[in-house]
Formats: sequence, C-alpha cells, structure tokens
Amino acid sequence: MANLLNRIKLIKERRGTAIAENWQIKISGIVQGVGFRPFVYRLASLYRVCGTVKNIDGDVLIDAQGIIKDLISFVNHILERPPQPARIKDVQIEKIQQIPNTNEFVILPSQSNPKTHKQVIFPAPDIAICPDCKNELFEPGNRRYLHPFISCTDCGPRFSVNLEIPFDRRRTTMSVFQLCDLCNEEYVSPLDRRFHSQTNCCYHCGPALSTHSIYHPDLCIEKMTGENITRINEVCQLLQNDGIILLKGISGYHLVCKATSSRATNKIRQMKARPKKPLAVMVKDLGDAYEIADIEPEERRLLTSPGAPIVLLRQKKGTDLSLLLAPGSNKIGVMLAYSPMHQILLNYINEPLVMTSGNLKDYPIEFLNEQSNKIFAKKVDAIIDHNRKIQNPCDDSVVQVVSKQTVFIRRARGFVPEGIELDFISPPMLGCGGDMKSTFCLASDKTAYMGQFTGNLDSWHNFNRYVENIYRMASLLNIRPEFVVHDMHPNYRSTQFALSKYSGKTVAVQHHHAHIVACMLEKHINENVIGIAFDGAGWGIDKKVWGGEFLVCDRERFNRAAHLRYMPMPGGDKCTKLPYRMAAAAACEISDKSVAGKIMEMVQIPEYELSFLEKQIRSGLNTPYTSSIGRLFDIIAAITEISKTVSFEGEAAIELEEIAIEPHETEYYEFVIDDRYGEKIIDWEAVLSEVVKDMETGVTVGEISAKFHNSIVRLIERLSLELSYKYNINKVVLSGGVFQNKLLLEKALKLLSKSGLEVYISNILPINDNGIAAGQIGIANAMIAAKNKKMCA
Ligand code: ZN
Ligand code: ZN
Ligand code: FE
Repeated sequence: MANLLNRIKLIKERRGTAIAENWQIKISGIVQGVGFRPFVYRLASLYRVCGTVKNIDGDVLIDAQGIIKDLISFVNHILERPPQPARIKDVQIEKIQQIPNTNEFVILPSQSNPKTHKQVIFPAPDIAICPDCKNELFEPGNRRYLHPFISCTDCGPRFSVNLEIPFDRRRTTMSVFQLCDLCNEEYVSPLDRRFHSQTNCCYHCGPALSTHSIYHPDLCIEKMTGENITRINEVCQLLQNDGIILLKGISGYHLVCKATSSRATNKIRQMKARPKKPLAVMVKDLGDAYEIADIEPEERRLLTSPGAPIVLLRQKKGTDLSLLLAPGSNKIGVMLAYSPMHQILLNYINEPLVMTSGNLKDYPIEFLNEQSNKIFAKKVDAIIDHNRKIQNPCDDSVVQVVSKQTVFIRRARGFVPEGIELDFISPPMLGCGGDMKSTFCLASDKTAYMGQFTGNLDSWHNFNRYVENIYRMASLLNIRPEFVVHDMHPNYRSTQFALSKYSGKTVAVQHHHAHIVACMLEKHINENVIGIAFDGAGWGIDKKVWGGEFLVCDRERFNRAAHLRYMPMPGGDKCTKLPYRMAAAAACEISDKSVAGKIMEMVQIPEYELSFLEKQIRSGLNTPYTSSIGRLFDIIAAITEISKTVSFEGEAAIELEEIAIEPHETEYYEFVIDDRYGEKIIDWEAVLSEVVKDMETGVTVGEISAKFHNSIVRLIERLSLELSYKYNINKVVLSGGVFQNKLLLEKALKLLSKSGLEVYISNILPINDNGIAAGQIGIANAMIAAKNKKMCA
C-alpha cells in the first residue's frame, strides 16, 4: 500500500496541468464481482474522461483520455473512494500514446489470456445487503418487494456460491437460474447498478424459498413467489410462540429463536448439547443493536461493514434478553441482518433473534438441503429452505474490538477467502493449521488465502469438512501445493492429513512460533521480535505442552527465552474441562505443603480422587506437563471457586475476566523468575500462595481476579523490557487464545506502549489457533529461503 500512496502523491504533484494525455491504469485486488466497472464508467462521465474499462485476468484495466487535471481527479476518486466491498491492492499507471476509444467511455467484455493467466486473482467474500437493495426490498410495488435473493454488484453472496474464478455467473451455483428478460436488461445496461451483477435474479428467474414443517402441514409451501411471500409471516408466528426455526442462509443453516425466550433458547442449547457457550444474536439494524448493547465507533464500523461479522459487545443492563444467551458473561455477540431473507424475518418479528450455526454437537455447520432436513425436521417447528446451492459452507465470523483494534476470534463468512498480501513470493503452499479452531491457509505468489473456520478436529465430522474445504478452496484458487506445512504435534489430525496426503513435501513447524509469525506476516515485520504466545496448548520441541511462551524469534527460527514453569496434567486433556483437578495437580508440585493443603481444601477435591491423582503424577501415567497460561487461569478460577468444572475450553478464563473489578485495581501478584537454566522459568508458586492468602483474608474474588490479570500484564511488561534490553529488540508481538481476554489484552497493550516498546497484534488474522495456518506459511517460506541461500553460498 505504501507504493500506492507514493503513486498518488506523484500524480498529485502534477495537478493543475491542462494538457490532454492518455493513461493506462491497471488496478489489482478485489476488483471483480464488486461493481468496479460500472463505478469507473460513472466516474468517467463525471470527470470528462473518454476511453474503455475491462476486466483482464484478475485485474481491471482502464484506458483513459482526458486533460491531466481531470485524469488525476478521476484516479484519485477511484483509489480513495472505491466501491465498499472492493479492496485495491495495487495500481499501475502508465502514459501511453493511443487509446482504443476517444469519443466516449465504454465498458468492454472481460478478457482472459489462458497463456499468461496470472495466479493472483482475488475472489470476493460474501457481502452484506447494501442500502439500495434494502430499500427496494421493502418498497411495495417494486418488482423485488420482499424478494429473499435481491442483490446487486455491491452486495450478495460471492464465496458461498463460487465454483471457480473469475466470478462469472456460469462459474457459480447461480448458473442453473436463467436470467429473465427484465433481469437480463439490467445485466447488460452499463448504467444499471445490476450491470454484470452475477447473482442478479427476481421472483421469475431466481431461486425460491420453501417452507417445511411436520408439525404444521398448513405452513408447508413448495415455492414462495411474489404472491405468497407474505405468508412467511405465518412461519414467523412460530417464533413468537417460543418455536425454533431452521433457516437456510447465505453460507449455511442457522437455528433461530426469539432471543428473549429462555424456553426456546434452552431448547436450542439442549439440541446442540451446548450448555453454556455463548449464542449469537441477530438484530434488524443498528438502532436495534444500540437497544441491547453499548457500541463504540469501531464496533459500529465492524457491525455495518460488508463482512457483517458477529461483534462481541457489552450488553446493556435491563434488556429483555434471555439470561441463557451468554451465562456468566456481560458480553453479547451481535450481528446485523446481513442477507435479504434475514431482513425479511427480522422485520416481521421485530425483535432480536438467536442466530446460531445449524449443527449438532461435534458436527460442522450444515449446508446441504437433504441432510439438514433429515437431521432437523423432527427437532424444529419449521424449516425455511431455499434451492440455491451453497458451494462453500461458512460459519459467521466473530470479532471484538480491543483498544480500538479489530481482534478476530473466528474468520469465516464475509471475510474468507480474502487474502493477505505477502512481502515475498511464495511457491504454491498449504498450511494445515492446528486441530483446535481449525482452518488452513493456501498461498501462492504474493498472497496467502485463509480458509474458513471449521471447529475442532477431534471430531471426525469436522475433520471431513476441513478436508473438503481445503480441496474446494484449492480448486477454486487453482493452487496445487508444492509444500505442505503442519503443526509439530504428532497426533493432530491436521498433521496426519499432511503426512498421509502429501508425503515427501511436508514441513513441520512449532505451534507458538506460528502464532507469532502469523502476526509478523500480516504486519510485514521481517526482523527479530519478542513473541509472547499465551494459549491453551501447543506441542513443544521438548514434547511437552507449551502455552506460556516468550520467544525471541524471526520468521525462520525461534529461541524460547522464557516460559511458565511446567505443571502436571494428570489425565491429559481431561484437565482442560476440570479446573479443580488442574489446581490440585499444581498443588501437588508446590513446595510449601501448607499452601498445597489449603488449595486442596478450597477446590474440594474428594480424598479418593486426590490419592489417585498423586499416584498418577508420580507414575507419570498419561500425565503430560504443560506451561500453559490458559491452565493457570483455570487454576485461579478453581481456587476462587468461580468455576470448578467447565463445558468448553476458555470458559473459566471468561468468567474470571467478567468478575474482575475494573479497571482501577493496580495491585498485582509477583511471579518469581528463575534465571538459572539459560531460559527463564516463570514460577507461579508464589502467585498461588498469595491468592490463597487473599482468599483466607476475605479479599473479594473480583479483586483477586483483577490482581491476577494485573500480574500477567506486569509479567509481560517486565520480561519484554528485560528481553528487549538483552537482545536489542524493540518490537513485541502478542498472540494466542489467551489474548481473547479483552481486559488482559487492553491492559497489556497500554502498558507495553507506555514503556516505549512497539507492540503488535493481528487485526486480520485470528489471534487464536484459527490464525496459525498463516504463520506456518511464513515460517516454511523463511526456511526455504534460508536453505536456498545456503545452497547458493
Ligand atoms: Zn445491493
Ligand atoms: Zn428475473
Ligand atoms: Fe495456540
């Protein structure tokens, strides 16, 4: 982008010249399928520019003639205010002798040269309904009044219906719907906002909704048309009576109920065997979002952005929302109705709806009609279905704002497959990510494309979907991996997939290094950094479970400069669901036996379980050792009796964050750092002993939690400064699932900036394991580059 700004500056310096010139302007990025050519066409008439515009391979090519002053304004307008869903990655301007057309401005048909067919084409993600389409949707008399598939060049499905690039109707799942005369008229009229809109359709020619219900046969409608579409209101009435609807959306099915209904919410929780993990809410517009949550400007920007993600917001007090939406949390995940069908539903019901991915426990989001109907027909009151095939299933994306920065928690619908720009040329490569919050990354040339979130691969169903998604996206982008990168964990399914399918060209990389390099890649940092990776678990080079790591690293190599003292996890992963067991296990390692005894008492571990635990630790049977900060959060939650058992990983940390008295507590517990063994060992024993003391003297758990958060932040500051001094490094990168904790991240960012360090977090790639696939691409490329250099030397 720096190049881009330079070019704008260059042309700005020539402003004021009244001589006519011919320019060829080549724009790359997400510029196809987003209304770019009609936009250029309109600007050409505004700035008195003649010439042509066309799509060529992945780019837009403009031949323009005009006086220099106008040409400059024309180009500036294009670069500074492109169509909202477009992403300009590069522009090249060249003065030329002649242009093809000097009388007027025309749009030429797309061109693609199979010989020079470039690899870098930026396919667009799905785009939320635009204001123009929304107006037409609710305009009685409009031929698309309440049409559930209304779209234009500015909005509508893209990735979810895309079979191949470039994005042309015949390469989408819309190809089976033949444009009617009226729609075709729009499609071929350059000044129409549906000019070359690949998803263009209407009641006559497009896909249609249908409704099914085995409990309400009167509500079954085979095909909803302009005549009977208002009957959707009858289906909505089921929601009013605490009913549950399965709705096929843009990129998958959703389970829907009224967000004020605890009865219905509870039914969905039971159906999904999901006792506590928060459920997202959809509202019809920003006004309704303000009714239920406090919204900062940056949060508002994200809510209304073309990607329309779920934004984690602070819930307002005194709303009617069910307490079961996010038990134990003051946060609520909110998204705006991003498709016409969601708009129609929300406008009829006119109150917030629970909108959660339609899947059962340990299954990925459902997206196929027959299968979804089979699974849910008896479980829900009605199904609202449609006959547009979903090619690439995606869950909704989830973000939160921390210190005015976007932090991705889940990257999928609305963002995938948008690529990140690399500062090197990558061979065709696949990064397989990890098994938790799995996804993958496909890289080629100067771009890395992140795949969609697919859940945890300990489930076979998720694993199968993950593999399907890899193959689908590799085929969409036409990338055949020459190298495949995977996590070092030998038992990860993603590792086994890489080794079995791509033997001979695989590269293994360390989990936490990948966390840090992901951010370095996004921020184009290519020097030594202090990487702080705090998460639940990642396989270490000593075969232990890492997760409280201070790395001094570049993209190729890392040095483990400091880490949390190991603690035993008797029973392995079982401990992640049982914080009290983790606390007892840590207590077994504590040298001060009186503190250990008190911890056992506080977590109320039964006598028989304790003796079994001790034996297990002593024998080492199924007892891995971990340096995970996530587990330390669990232990504090157990000792303070906030959560002794949890239903999902991270639940204890969320509850601990919620209960912390904000934000004025300045006290903290001090970690002892043992410097004797080359790498610094961060000892938690003194912290636990102080927490126990505070519990005994009646300090509130809110204070203890705040103090504990401060302790981690102080630890980050102290070690960052020490390492910065020792290694002469000024850049600090924070990554890992623990930093989904907003209180922790906010405080850490503040304190580190104050101490004069440059601190970075990812804003495009997820901060948790959903982002490591990109880091794998970065590390493997650095390794290959280093190897090549060595061979040349
Ligand atoms: Zn639109
Ligand atoms: Zn039509
Ligand atoms: Fe991780």
